Amino acid sequence: MPIPSGARYQVGRVDFTVVNDGTYWYDAGAIFGVVPRVMWERVAPPLDERYRIPLGLNCILLRSRGKTVLVETGVGGKPGDRDNATPAEEGTLLTSLAALDVAPEDIDVVVNTHLHADHCGWNTSEGGDGTLHPTFPNATYVINAQEWHDATHPNERTRATYLERNVAPIADRLELADGEHAITDELHFVPAPGHTEGHSTVVIRSGQEWGVYLGDLVQHRAQLERTAWVSGLDILPLVSMETKRQLVDRCIEEQALVIFCHGDYPGVGRLERTEQGYRRWVGVGDGATG
Ligand SMILES: [Zn+2]
Repeated sequence: MPIPSGARYQVGRVDFTVVNDGTYWYDAGAIFGVVPRVMWERVAPPLDERYRIPLGLNCILLRSRGKTVLVETGVGGKPGDRDNATPAEEGTLLTSLAALDVAPEDIDVVVNTHLHADHCGWNTSEGGDGTLHPTFPNATYVINAQEWHDATHPNERTRATYLERNVAPIADRLELADGEHAITDELHFVPAPGHTEGHSTVVIRSGQEWGVYLGDLVQHRAQLERTAWVSGLDILPLVSMETKRQLVDRCIEEQALVIFCHGDYPGVGRLERTEQGYRRWVGVGDGATG
């Protein structure tokens, strides 16, 4: 069964398409952190026999000011990359791009919100002789400078997810961002610390409209709807909570289109406030403007 691809949306004059690297299975307890299981199991989908829940791997493809930009690269296709993901035969980011007639050579800019292994796997590929190379041979890779430092100096906790194979081969292709960074005048890379210190979001601005790709601000929609539900995977949980509070409030007030990496495909929606003062995620179906 092929992975879906091609859900198209619009923010002002910027079109984007959600491309997909399959589904990734991750330990639910790690995602929900200190939230008791009796609370999260009411809202999380059923666990598999290894207590994992499925996470989408939604990446976005867009064209802005003549540049073809890919935001996030999923888990990848190198040996070991898909151990916790759906098999490559069911489709990957590259097949999802190919379905849109986009070849790896066509990508001018790759943006990684951070460098955990489920967000940058397709940064690199392995050749037949076992050597690693950048998957997108003509691309510049936009990454936060702090994140690059942390990913290339992993510690005991981060070593399992900051993988040398995803970062070393792109070291001479970097456009490191120190703070807010304009990729084009309508596409901005904006720090959103908490999940990692250098974690960043991607903001699309065009006319009066805006949209934001959240990266790993949350991993489950229940964490978008509840301020105190902070991921157990966050390195700076209290910073993460404040970042989320401020960003989510703005998204509600200004009716931003929200793109949610680990949501069910395509993971695009808006947030609204409920009468009880909670927030509610409302998905916007695929092909909304296509
Ligand atoms: Zn993630």
